[in-house]
Amino acid sequence: MIDVDIIRKEFPILERSVAGKPMVYLDNTATSQAPLSVVREIERIYTHSRANVHRGVHTLSQEMTDLQEHCRMRVREFINAGSIEEIIFTRGTTEAINLVANSFGSFFKAGDEVILTVMEHHANIVPWQLLRERIGIVLKVVDINDKGELDLEEFKRLFGPKTVFASFCHVSNVLGTVNPVKEMVDYAHSRGVPVLIDGAQASPHLKIDVEELDCDFYAFSAHKMYGPSGVGVLYGKKQLLEKMPPWQGGGEMIGKVTFEHTTFADLPFKFEAGTPDYIGIAAFSKALEFIDNLGLENIERHELEISRYAEEKLKMIPGIKIYGEAQYKGPVISFLFNGTHPYDLGMLLDKQGVEVRTGHHCAMPLMDRLGIPGTVRASFAVYNTLKEADIFIEAVRKAAAILS
Ligand code: PLP
Repeated sequence: MIDVDIIRKEFPILERSVAGKPMVYLDNTATSQAPLSVVREIERIYTHSRANVHRGVHTLSQEMTDLQEHCRMRVREFINAGSIEEIIFTRGTTEAINLVANSFGSFFKAGDEVILTVMEHHANIVPWQLLRERIGIVLKVVDINDKGELDLEEFKRLFGPKTVFASFCHVSNVLGTVNPVKEMVDYAHSRGVPVLIDGAQASPHLKIDVEELDCDFYAFSAHKMYGPSGVGVLYGKKQLLEKMPPWQGGGEMIGKVTFEHTTFADLPFKFEAGTPDYIGIAAFSKALEFIDNLGLENIERHELEISRYAEEKLKMIPGIKIYGEAQYKGPVISFLFNGTHPYDLGMLLDKQGVEVRTGHHCAMPLMDRLGIPGTVRASFAVYNTLKEADIFIEAVRKAAAILS
């Protein structure tokens, strides 16, 4: 069970005020706040153990390496990957997807087709467009229905003899739609096509089991999971990662270097060039511990209780239109008021201490598809309360009255 009062004590930032009002933080989809255990771990390392990893026999370097590698083990358990060789640390979801587009994408040739969906974040669009510019691949895009659910029949129809890859989000950062990723992976595999799942919006809320999903790649970011910024994970199946060429070159990722020839390190280090954010990675362990202690099922249940309550109340305000009403939906509400610009509503909410995100949410093609410039987006985490949902609704009511 979730005891929000106890949880909130772990997040001192939630006690601050904005515009003279108690702050209500509802921008968790962009970044969730970090508990004291994460903050203290960062401080502890800076004041006690900071040293570069994997490069020294001295005590501090070994301590730091152990902390980083301990996190790799925790991540492996967290997503039920087969081995730690399948866990690659990146700067975030974006870098993880770029890694796959650049490395696995080097196997593609002109005319090969990659399937995406219209609800993708730019992080899962632009790397494929860059590849299109470089080698001439073709992008195919799956549409959504009126509720914001993927058109699965179209997804299946888009597969053809030239399809080489499919890359789609687990949960939409705008619509909240939870996609039927297992069914999508199974279908892609039945056509011999490997897949990447962008799990940036799923990993904070849903239990991820990459073995069960059988996906080839899975990407996510620590800062959306109560962890530090600058850290992300790419899970990849070992047999694929082994065949893939390195993407970035530098320290850590090599076996032996001469001016004539370089051999590469074994997995996962082949894909981890340069000094990683080892302190962030070490502190990410504490975020995973925080999630594990609460239990993802409990987190999800709590967040959905608050977000559904807020959504029902929001719908009762005349002039409000909700974008994204999928049957399976995460704790995200995107909405607009009577054709007014999302920034105006967002500014009026900020003046009341309510922190929501406004704009295109790095999903411009989805905004084009919906025929709007952007939305106001409220997104919920485990520390949010029903009382905060009420404050949010009241703030929207007041803002709507001003904008009318
Ligand atoms: N994919 C989705 C669905 C996202 O919501 C985000 C961030 O909001 C990203 C990718 C990019 O994540 P990051 O900026 O942490 O790399």
